[in-house]
Amino acid sequence: MNRLEDPSATLLIDGEWLAGDSTFEVVNPATLEVIGRVADAGPGQARTALDAAARAAGTWRSVDAETRSGRLRAAADAIRAEVESLATLLTAENGKPLAEARGEVLSCARMLEWAAEEGRRANGRVTPPGPNGPGLVVRAPVGPVLAITPWNFPATMVVRKVGLALAAGSPVIVKPAEQTPMIAAAIIRLINYTGLPAGVLQLLTTSRPAEVAGALLADARLRKVSFTGSTEVGLGLVRATGSQLRRMSLELGGHAPAVVFADADLETAAAGVVQAKFTNAGQSCVAINRLYVHRGVHDEFVAQLVRKVAGLKVGHGTEPGVTIGPLIDSDALAKVEKHVEDAISRGASVVTGGRRATPDRPDLKGAFFQPTILTGVDDSMLISAEETFGPVLPVFAVDDDEEALARANATEYGLAAYVFGTDFTRLWQALDRLNFGVIGVNEPMPLRPELPFGGMKNSGQEREGGSEGIEAYLETKAVAIRL
Ligand code: NAD
Repeated sequence: MNRLEDPSATLLIDGEWLAGDSTFEVVNPATLEVIGRVADAGPGQARTALDAAARAAGTWRSVDAETRSGRLRAAADAIRAEVESLATLLTAENGKPLAEARGEVLSCARMLEWAAEEGRRANGRVTPPGPNGPGLVVRAPVGPVLAITPWNFPATMVVRKVGLALAAGSPVIVKPAEQTPMIAAAIIRLINYTGLPAGVLQLLTTSRPAEVAGALLADARLRKVSFTGSTEVGLGLVRATGSQLRRMSLELGGHAPAVVFADADLETAAAGVVQAKFTNAGQSCVAINRLYVHRGVHDEFVAQLVRKVAGLKVGHGTEPGVTIGPLIDSDALAKVEKHVEDAISRGASVVTGGRRATPDRPDLKGAFFQPTILTGVDDSMLISAEETFGPVLPVFAVDDDEEALARANATEYGLAAYVFGTDFTRLWQALDRLNFGVIGVNEPMPLRPELPFGGMKNSGQEREGGSEGIEAYLETKAVAIRL
């Protein structure tokens, strides 16, 4: 069989698609069926990839920005042309509803277009003359990048890093999550087919992330790590850096608060909260994890939420009308059940949901959970302190804006926050007070290519997207000139 036709040839190393010595299984989280086997890279292949990236760094940085930009535009077009097959694969691997998968794939194209545009604007500057002459600020590609990505948005997380790294002139080695390597391989094939030189874009699918990342982190030629995933693993990567400083972008866990002010349009706000909570079955770093509602409108707002949640349907992501797919695995289900049981044992009430869901199809053996609303939640409960990463919405009643904002900020995390209301001054004061990198004001989906994305505190550092995104892939040289 031609290696390009071998679906397990998922290692892209130095321009060649390779099958590797061993493979690991990929499972559909809705049915638990094995849907494929992919190559299982080890540390040796990681070192070979870094050798190739180091060789390619010089080639790629000398390619003119317009040509690099053209490759990324071509990749965006190729992804748009394949939206249905990519979305179907994404749903099979991750479980999310097909409509969400389509949206994610189209976001990939938009992100590549944004990166293509930003790459052409990665300008330096000339400073006004000093006593002896002018100064220059020169921007240079950071050098070989390792991109480590999670399973929850397995297409966009790959593309966001790859697009910016390539646009800035750096080669990139992608290590996708072990749950979702096939969509990463499919997307990287499309980007690579645009004619990238060998070693510029590489892929290491592996079931041994620590070993593969460790081999790369040990080598000073790796100049940047861009990691999206849990805070625990992200902090571990910082510690693993040891005596070798390098640039690090970290997009880590969130624990997003949402505040509903008493003057909010309750029906619109409820629709927004439900979207921001239950998209991707709540398995999103920007999912609402704590909802603070003014006591005066609490009961009416909860009633609105219950009506909206009644319209959600749990099941297989390809089934028409399904809005909530499975959780990624049984560990994820165990965490969700633990948070719900703990909250109930400490006095919370289940308004709707609260249990494992059993969709009406015998082949659906995955970990499904009912969309759940809890009231009477307080700060003694696990759910008030930890990211649930599932379809559970805990509602906290608050007496005033001050209490809502203080409690929203009382967390080690600082990724996303939401405010719903109508009074402009109140909303402005709230977004000024909230210590979060991404804020939705009456906007449940605050992610746009034009806006920088990233967190404060233990949610991360550096930004992806916006004009700030490409900065994370550029070094700065200050040049003082004596005339
Ligand atoms: P995870 O940290 O377990 O895994 C993320 C990636 O890290 C995967 O590719 C995994 O293989 C790899 N990895 C795991 N251990 C490693 C190690 N020791 N060395 C190197 N790589 C290692 O996270 P997850 O469960 O896949 O994703 C969920 C988490 O990601 C949540 O906390 C979520 O909030 C976060 N997340 C953050 C963002 C963001 O932009 N801030 C976006 C999506 C997800």
